[in-house]
Amino acid sequence: MTVGSKVWEQYVKTLAAIDNTAAKKFAAFVRGLDLGKADSRKKAIDYAVALATKYSETAAAAACEMYDAIVAAAGMYFPAAEPAVLAENIYGEVAKTVNGMIKQNASPDSMGSAIGRLVKRTGVDTTMKNAIRDGAEWAWIPSGDSCAFCIMLASNGWQRASAEALKGGHAEHIHSNCDCTYAIRFNGKPSYASYNPDKYLDMYEEADGRTWKDKVNSMRREQYAENSEEINEQKRAAYAERKEREE
Ligand SMILES: [Zn+2]
Repeated sequence: MTVGSKVWEQYVKTLAAIDNTAAKKFAAFVRGLDLGKADSRKKAIDYAVALATKYSETAAAAACEMYDAIVAAAGMYFPAAEPAVLAENIYGEVAKTVNGMIKQNASPDSMGSAIGRLVKRTGVDTTMKNAIRDGAEWAWIPSGDSCAFCIMLASNGWQRASAEALKGGHAEHIHSNCDCTYAIRFNGKPSYASYNPDKYLDMYEEADGRTWKDKVNSMRREQYAENSEEINEQKRAAYAERKEREE
């Protein structure tokens, strides 16, 4: 049994669409607020709590559905996957995030990303907690133009799920603009067409540097060089579009 690339990509896209929607909605909302005012800050927090709660539940449900499908594909029998919650104290966690962004004078897009990140984390937490419960193996599967850090994680290959990977009860290293996520398997089943740990191990080993930090930094520099032309292209296009709208 193999999880085909299309099935996996669809899953990754679904998860990404969920956290991106939360991010965009929050960015649009705070754009219309004067966060210098206390009542606006309260409105921002209340809306962030509502968005983060709703979309975290959606992300957790999508993660549970995939988890149960993989369990079935592996021929295993476990109780239905349980959705993780954003935090024990959702209001407190979201308020802390929003207040932190306000203090940093973050842009609306960055504030949106911070909420999207909480949503993404809940989805990943869901997979991790069930994998730990059921003694699965997991691997971090990069998606698209992966961040160097994710390639390093992917190069570790399949590992026994362990609570040690949770920090404060949550997945670590969850950043915005990254669609990489955990895949799970049981006794080597199923296999994933989208995941070839050897490829990532080669990339990691070929990267310059002695420590993992050096290697991640040199992979990052290489990607930056490859991407910078593309990014410049995107910036020029965005600038042209803005110009057009202003005229
Ligand atoms: Zn990533």
